[in-house]
Amino acid sequence: MTTANQPNNQSSSFDNAPINWIPAFVLVSTPILALFLVPYYLWTHDVTWQVWAVFAFCLAWSGLSITTGYHRLWSHRAYQTHPVLKWFWLIGGTFAVQSSVFDWCSGHRTHHRHVDDVEQDPYSVKRGFWFSHIGWMLKNYPSGNFDYKNIPDLTTDPILQIQHKYYGFWVLLTNIGIPLLFGWLVGDIAGTMILAGLLRLVISHHCTFFINSLCHMFGTRPYTDTNTARDNPILALFTWGEGYHNYHHYFQYDYRNGVKWWQYDPTKWIIYGLSKVGLAWDLKRVPDVAIQHAQVEMKFKTAQNHIDGFTGNLTTDLQLFKERIVNEQQAFKQTISEWQALKAQAIEMKKNEFAQRLHEVDEKLKDQMQAIEQKMQQHAKQLEQALASLQGKMA
Ligand SMILES: [Zn+2]
Ligand SMILES: [Zn+2]
Repeated sequence: MTTANQPNNQSSSFDNAPINWIPAFVLVSTPILALFLVPYYLWTHDVTWQVWAVFAFCLAWSGLSITTGYHRLWSHRAYQTHPVLKWFWLIGGTFAVQSSVFDWCSGHRTHHRHVDDVEQDPYSVKRGFWFSHIGWMLKNYPSGNFDYKNIPDLTTDPILQIQHKYYGFWVLLTNIGIPLLFGWLVGDIAGTMILAGLLRLVISHHCTFFINSLCHMFGTRPYTDTNTARDNPILALFTWGEGYHNYHHYFQYDYRNGVKWWQYDPTKWIIYGLSKVGLAWDLKRVPDVAIQHAQVEMKFKTAQNHIDGFTGNLTTDLQLFKERIVNEQQAFKQTISEWQALKAQAIEMKKNEFAQRLHEVDEKLKDQMQAIEQKMQQHAKQLEQALASLQGKMA
């Protein structure tokens, strides 16, 4: 396995970390078992479509419980939901065998806070593909010891406390009980145990792990380049929409990861759908204009990199490009100050209005906010055109 960006500062506590026996056993034995058992069973038995349907359901249930429950609900509190759904995600998340909500969320919040830090990010990609994908769970690294100080909102939840305390028992119960029950219902216990139990677990594991490894290695960075997280539409297909990881690292509280309406993010669609039938509420959305702002800032950075990266005498084309960028920067500054003034005005108006009339304030400001958003889009377009024409001339 290749290791990009090997850390230069490996402390001995990382080198001498002891093996984490139970996770290591599960993570090593399940793929090996699946590699032999699945082909053998498919070769020697006819598997009915009902077994495959159970497999698909269990794969979706465990995968979506991690993205919709563990990740966007408990780690980021991107929305609120009905207790019935919390139970559904909690059982599905246990079925996915990715540790208790406490461990998962504490580690994940640390990942966001210290992203890419070789000492503190529990699955830092700067320690290489293997470490960020699976290696971080196989040994007891210092970065993998969570003290739960960053999840005070979760540790007080009695149901989550029970899941944490009896986690091992819950894992056995779900991973034996659910396939057994479905297997009995569809009349093929062995087939369901092997496909909906074992194969489903291995696929679900590695698809989630891709988010920590590949989504920090391959893809674009439209919102920020201050960390390694990437937007990758192909990985979104395998991760229930979490491939839009660059957006997620910049705006982590948004319930959407694929923020554009056309981006494949089934987790976002499920949360939105639940909100429409009253089962989810308080959906957190970053305002469109803030998203546009981040994108324009990134385009300026790209333009600046082009200017800085040019060595030798300035050509007329580059000189013109530079002037164009400077002008655009001036105009952009103007848009930002208009935007800030409008935000201040909104706060002031809301302070002076009664709660029931707040929507009228929003309505009044809506057109002005849209005008700012259009200006932001215009800046993005200008920059794209400038970059395209420069690249055309340099080619
Ligand atoms: Zn990440
Ligand atoms: Zn996250």
